Amino acid sequence: MEGIISNIQRFSIHDGPGVRSTVFFKGCPLRCLWCHNPETYAFGCELRYNAAKCIGCGACVAACRTGALSLCAATGALSAGAEGGAAGGGGVGSAAGSGGVGSAAGSGEEDAAGSDDTGIAYDKGKCTFCYSCAGACPGKALSLSGRRVSVAGVVGEVMEDETMYRRTGGGVTLSGGEPTAQPEFCAALLDAFRASGVHTCLDTCGYCKTDTFIRIASKADMILYDIKHMDPGEHMRLTGAPNDLIIANLRALESAGIATEVRVPVVPGFNDGNGKGDGDGDRNGERNDVGNCEGNGVGDVNDNGDGDSYGNLRRIGELLAPLGCVGAIVLLGYHALGQSKIYDFDKNGADIGAVAPGRAELERMSAIVRAASGKPVSYR
Ligand code: SF4
Ligand code: SF4
Repeated sequence: MEGIISNIQRFSIHDGPGVRSTVFFKGCPLRCLWCHNPETYAFGCELRYNAAKCIGCGACVAACRTGALSLCAATGALSAGAEGGAAGGGGVGSAAGSGGVGSAAGSGEEDAAGSDDTGIAYDKGKCTFCYSCAGACPGKALSLSGRRVSVAGVVGEVMEDETMYRRTGGGVTLSGGEPTAQPEFCAALLDAFRASGVHTCLDTCGYCKTDTFIRIASKADMILYDIKHMDPGEHMRLTGAPNDLIIANLRALESAGIATEVRVPVVPGFNDGNGKGDGDGDRNGERNDVGNCEGNGVGDVNDNGDGDSYGNLRRIGELLAPLGCVGAIVLLGYHALGQSKIYDFDKNGADIGAVAPGRAELERMSAIVRAASGKPVSYR
């Protein structure tokens, strides 16, 4: 059994209890505007280009035997391309084209953009993904994102830190991307880690067919479950996918009695309920974004300051209140790290213009969710 991952991060301390290794799967059915791991969007391996590191030497062009690259003095940019769908999706329609070709980088077409004086142009249709160009690049402007791995290979790499997991109460977390979008690989990994006696967390957006989702989730020791917005229209606008399946799967976790920690990314002006955001980032030309949302409050969910200014967070708390499987809630304050990655990855990426919430604001948000849910709420 093989799958595609972007990397394995050792010594993680925010992806479940103890010190952990986090396996980042490639491929995600959502396109959250604020995503801080956009390099995991696509389901296949990709060529990445960082124009800021390119000196225009042409070594990559010379190394490419298929003519996929050319020096491009005028347009000077390369958008990374995705190798055809290795993942085979989780079985639901998606903003990304689950398991499809070119799912992260503009529909699989050549996608040169930008206006630098130097750079390279890329014809993905001619690319065989041999990565000779990346090896030839003296400035590391080109790199490979994603690698095919076997279950045994991942387990072997993760188990190198087994002693640390046992000493700290940690383990392994499957994250991404969306692990359940490579369902059989994800399930096989969870089986293998369970057989090894290592604690497992499944970090998921929950956008997966319910029967597949519960089959996989039941193999994990703990679920880290993202909830982003209660309003269906806002959820679609902000993530490129509806929220009904996500909410249904959370309730299915409750029915199955699977221990869950809910995580709420809080992006001021986007999903806190203040209704003052500007969500016009059509990041990769694939999302269902509908443009600027300045002041388009939707009832009390996107309140515009009439006394229920964190309406979305309150409604998330109310959703979680009766769910016994949810032991804790964590608010994840937005940070701009992913935005810089977007520019590194795809020059068509959009800066959403969000500002990281301060400590006082996170305290206020936590108090609202705590009051609405009656559950422990922390933030970071
Ligand atoms: S990966 Fe190979 S085929 Fe594709 S652009 Fe680079 S050298 Fe050319
Ligand atoms: S991408 Fe690398 S090898 Fe290609 S022109 Fe730029 S610096 Fe040279």
